[in-house]
Amino acid sequence: MSTSVPTLDETHDPARRSWVASANDAASDFPLQNLPYGVFTREGDRARHVGVAIGDQVLDLTVLEAEGRLTLAGEPVFATGRLNNLMAQDPVVWQRARTEISQLLAEGGADTLRGTALAGTALVAQEAVRLHRPFKVAGYTDFYSSRAHATNVGTMFRGAADALPPNWLHMPIAYNGRASTVVVSGTPVRRPLGQLMGPGDTAPRVGPSARLDMEIELGAVVGTPTRLGTRLDAGAADRHIFGYVLLNDWSARDIQVWEYRPLGPFQSKAFATTISPWVVTQAALAPYRVPAPPREYPLLDYLAEAAPANLDIHIEASLAPRGAAPHTISRTNARHLYYSAAQQLAHHSLCGCTMETGDLLGSGTISGPDPDSFGSLLELTWNGERPLTLGEARRVFLEDGDTLALTAWCEGRGHRIGFGAASGTVLRAQD
Ligand code: MN
Repeated sequence: MSTSVPTLDETHDPARRSWVASANDAASDFPLQNLPYGVFTREGDRARHVGVAIGDQVLDLTVLEAEGRLTLAGEPVFATGRLNNLMAQDPVVWQRARTEISQLLAEGGADTLRGTALAGTALVAQEAVRLHRPFKVAGYTDFYSSRAHATNVGTMFRGAADALPPNWLHMPIAYNGRASTVVVSGTPVRRPLGQLMGPGDTAPRVGPSARLDMEIELGAVVGTPTRLGTRLDAGAADRHIFGYVLLNDWSARDIQVWEYRPLGPFQSKAFATTISPWVVTQAALAPYRVPAPPREYPLLDYLAEAAPANLDIHIEASLAPRGAAPHTISRTNARHLYYSAAQQLAHHSLCGCTMETGDLLGSGTISGPDPDSFGSLLELTWNGERPLTLGEARRVFLEDGDTLALTAWCEGRGHRIGFGAASGTVLRAQD
C-alpha cells in the first residue's frame, strides 16, 4: 500500500458546480467538493440506504447502484444500506466512488444525472429523511492529543509544574471507550448515574452526575482493516483512514475524578458519545492539510509523517438552555492537535492490535490556546470558577434540558466543506 496522501484533482476544483442548486450556495455545508456519506431511511420505508449529502438533498447511492449507475468494487457495496462495505475497500475504490459521484452531480459532462428520470428517484430532500448512525462502530478509542487541553486539565488537578504527564510529548495516549453507546446527532443523552465521592461526602454514594460536560472532538474513522500483528507507521496509517466525523465525548467529571486512577475513564464516559451523521472523507479534506505544531522532542520513527496530516477545521460549540436560543461557547480548530489521526492510528497498531473497519478514534478534547477556544466546560469555566453567561442563564456544567451542538467546516474558495451538526439534549437522570 502506497504511503501517499490523497491528491488534489478535478473533484476539488472550486469552479466546479452542481446542477443541485442548493449545493452552490457558499453557506452550504455540502457543496460538490464535499460529498460526505451517511445512512438514511425515507418516510414510510424502513430500508436503510447509503447516501451522500449534496446541498439540502441526499443522493441515494443504494438506488443508483441497483440501477447500474455505480460499479465501484465489482460487487454491490450499498445494497445492504451499510457504509462499512465501502469503508472496508481499498482507497482506490473510495477514490473511484468520489470521482463517479462528482460526475453524476456536476453541472455538465457526459455522465451527469441532470434531467434524467433516475435523478428524480435518487435525489431526496434531507428534511424528508431520517439520518442514522452512519456506520457500524467496531471499537471506540479516545485519545488525549490536544496539548492545551492536557495542560489545562493537568494544571487544574496537579499544578502547572506537573501538568503534562511524562509520556505525553512522546506518544498519543488514549483509553479504550465503548462502541456500544456511540449515537447519532439528535439522540437524547440521559444524565448518568455513577458512584460519587465528592469533597462533601464521607463515603461513596450512587447519584446523578452533577458535573456533566462536553468534549469537542474530531472522530477519525478507520476504513481498510489490518490483520492481527500488522503495524503501520504514520504514513501507511493515513491511507487506512476513511474519513472524519464530529464527536462530542460527553463526560461526567464527578464520576471521572473518583474512578479514573489508575486505569482511566470508565463509567464517566461510557453512557454516550454523539457523532455527526455525515462522514467527511479524507479526500474532501485533502486541500486543508496543515503541518503539525512544533515538536518539543523529536518523535520516534513510527510516528514520523511523510506529509502534513493535521487538518484546518474550524469547530464551534453552542449551548441552548431549554426553550432558549443557542449561544456559541467555544470556537476552536483541529489544527491545534499535537498528534494527527494518522499518528494515533500508527500508535494504536504498534503492538500489532488489529484495526477494524468502523474503528472510531476520538482526537481528544480540542482546545486552542485562547480561553474562548477551550473544548470543555471544565476549561471554559476553569473548574467552575468562572460561570458562563448565556442570556438570562448561567452555566458551570450542563443542566437538564440543555442542548449542546457542535458544528464544523473548512473554509474553501467560495465554498466550505461542512460536517453538519453533532447535537444532543440532556435528559434528567433515571430514578
Ligand atoms: Mn474525550
